Amino acid sequence: MKKVFVKSYGCQMNVYDAERMADMLTTEGYAETKAMEEADLVILNTCHIREKAAEKVYSELGRVRELKKERQTHGQETKIVVAGCVAQAEGKEILRRAPAVDVVVGPQNYHNLPELLRKARSERVVDTEFPIEDKFDHLPKPSKAMIRNRGVSSFLTIQEGCDKFCTFCVVPYTRGAEVSRSVSKIVDEALRLADAGVRELTLIGQNVNAYHGEGPDGSIWSLGKLLHRLAEIPGIARLRYTTSHPRDMDDELIAAHRDLPALMPYLHLPVQSGSNRILDEMNRKHTGDEYRRLIERIRKAQANLALSSDFIVGFPGETDAEFEDTMRLVADVGFASSFSFKYSPRPGTPAAEMGLQVPEAVKAERLARLQNLLETQRQAFNRGTVGQTLDVLLEKPGRHPGQMAGKSPYLQAVQIETDCHHIGDIVTVRITQAGSNSLFGEVVKPGNQAAA
Ligand code: SAM
Ligand code: SF4
Repeated sequence: MKKVFVKSYGCQMNVYDAERMADMLTTEGYAETKAMEEADLVILNTCHIREKAAEKVYSELGRVRELKKERQTHGQETKIVVAGCVAQAEGKEILRRAPAVDVVVGPQNYHNLPELLRKARSERVVDTEFPIEDKFDHLPKPSKAMIRNRGVSSFLTIQEGCDKFCTFCVVPYTRGAEVSRSVSKIVDEALRLADAGVRELTLIGQNVNAYHGEGPDGSIWSLGKLLHRLAEIPGIARLRYTTSHPRDMDDELIAAHRDLPALMPYLHLPVQSGSNRILDEMNRKHTGDEYRRLIERIRKAQANLALSSDFIVGFPGETDAEFEDTMRLVADVGFASSFSFKYSPRPGTPAAEMGLQVPEAVKAERLARLQNLLETQRQAFNRGTVGQTLDVLLEKPGRHPGQMAGKSPYLQAVQIETDCHHIGDIVTVRITQAGSNSLFGEVVKPGNQAAA
């Protein structure tokens, strides 16, 4: 049997796509391996969101090329595929910069991989056209055993692409226009996942709350309505969704946070900046105060919300005072966890052409201050859960024998002293201690069992 190694960079969407590629290649006679050295096929599923992410691919390709040479000396062939957003953005340029690469395939075309690999026996190939057909219709369904292997929490893509065109972002160019999958296709996939033992679904999309898929009755369903339908599936105990845009948090979705016990009290809602002028330059189409008011409304619906965000510091022209607006917004709103980045100019985006790029040292200093504040808030949030009883979904064995590891409703990692429960069980835990990356707790009630 031939072996395939897939390495994924960047967002959850890429994790999901990497799994779909692996599913598809199993039907082509490949088995997945975790060791690149023994792979007959190496796939790098790349990310183009920041310069560093894109450059990582080229340095990894250097390493893979050495491996290919080494295997060649033993008479073994290795095919190299570059997939994902760097493939989409750079296309043929990858073949020029990295002569060892055999196939370049964009994120909307990976269902063509078997055909591309056949072609690659005689020539190097690039496939980055945006196709008319839906790639999901061409992907094979993973077996129960493969789903089980991946655990009790699963991603499910419901929406792809983005029409928002934030001026810093490459996503609309690499992932294409916004498209929602139909409710029936999503429900079918969710039923299959539940049947294989999945307990938690995280619905994903570049702009997931802009979801507007065709319902079984022919009408257009919003994300709020879709969540209600998915919550009815037996076995599915937890629902999450990511990543959302503040402009698309509609009343139905906010109400779902109040009415749907399966919808976890966690929300990743990127604000990017606290300065109205910078938000306008970013084309985010909301102000800092509109974001504050939105969070107030969501917290009215779900008082225990753990809020998370992305931030960019050093956007072109950002002044000290405008950066302070971001610090103020963070202090006002309070975040349970966050991701923050130095602005990275991306070729072809409007912001990369703007004057007054902020010096690297200033970006670094602002990022350090912001991360300091965000980390203080994260730790305070985690300490605040000590003494509480929380439901924990058990996902894997813990760090030490006799321990299990799982996630709280707020997406915190929790380590529990227990060996009498199963992966997939949801147990009620009293949190006893907050470490820097995990909480620790003891089971007070066995709770909701996974199906045998
Ligand atoms: N759709 C999401 C939204 O609207 O917030 C974001 C998706 S993007 C894949 C993830 C994060 O990467 C963004 O929220 C932003 O903070 C960051 N990002 C995107 N482009 C960037 C750039 N050019 N430089 C630095 N960070 C960037
Ligand atoms: Fe990028 Fe998100 Fe803006 Fe779309 S909404 S352009 S994915 S940052």
